[in-house]
Amino acid sequence: MSEDCIFCSIVDGDIPGRIVHETDDAVAFLDANPLARGHTLVIPKSHHERLDDVPAEEATGLYSALHEVVPAVEAAVDAPATTVAFNNGEDAGQEVPHVHAHVVPRFEGDGGGP
Ligand code: 5GP
Ligand code: ZN
Repeated sequence: MSEDCIFCSIVDGDIPGRIVHETDDAVAFLDANPLARGHTLVIPKSHHERLDDVPAEEATGLYSALHEVVPAVEAAVDAPATTVAFNNGEDAGQEVPHVHAHVVPRFEGDGGGP
């Protein structure tokens, strides 16, 4: 864990997060400023800043969590699709330096997306 990391604090239960899914390797919780209803973040429990810092076994765990969370989010808000995206690095818009996948519910004609 990293002392000053807000997402590590959510993993450790030191600050509240609306956790919707948890595995040995990963946690999913609702985004505090959602781009759409049900916008969820999926993170590895271990602190890594960028996608390429995540060791292979943990990356597999992260993908497995996404595999479960994506259809669950779609079902929860009755969305026909989702955009799943990583901002990887500050210049890509990454504000929280703990790897996270955005799972954003998408609806026909919503005009969003990367
Ligand atoms: P980034 O720009 O780093 O890809 O996305 C960071 C995301 O984390 C943003 O969508 C932002 O709303 C969310 N976020 C930032 N701080 C918190 C927090 O304390 N709790 C939760 N649940 N989400 C947060
Ligand atoms: Zn962290």
